[in-house]
Amino acid sequence: MTTDSCDLCGSEGGEPIWRDARLRIVRVADPDYPAYCRVIWNGHVREMTDLCPADRTHLMNVVFAVEAALRCLAGVEKINLASFGNLTPHVHWHVVARTPGDRHFPEPLWAASRVRGAPVRIEVSVELLKQTVRRALARLPKE
Ligand SMILES: [Zn+2]
Repeated sequence: MTTDSCDLCGSEGGEPIWRDARLRIVRVADPDYPAYCRVIWNGHVREMTDLCPADRTHLMNVVFAVEAALRCLAGVEKINLASFGNLTPHVHWHVVARTPGDRHFPEPLWAASRVRGAPVRIEVSVELLKQTVRRALARLPKE
């Protein structure tokens, strides 16, 4: 895969929440999971170990800040963190707030759905996500 054919090089990968020179946070457009963010490295990097240690630390600090932010949302039971990249080999982390009523709980988001009908949802706007993530980022250690 080249940067020309990479989904995360060719698009934001979701609705922008926050970004700096190295990475960005987006909200994934999934109506069943309104508190589903991705932390995406801006450059086309295949594996975590392709990043220098300082960049790895920055990336994980931001992943943990997003996790902390999502934990503050009402109704959240658990946070799932995942990094695959099998289809899109561009370093990115999924940070997903889970609730006992969601379509896949307690299975991973990528498993077959266990719930028929309308799932229980977390009510969260992009603005609330932005505010909550910014507060969590402000608590990051200085690098
Ligand atoms: Zn890419």
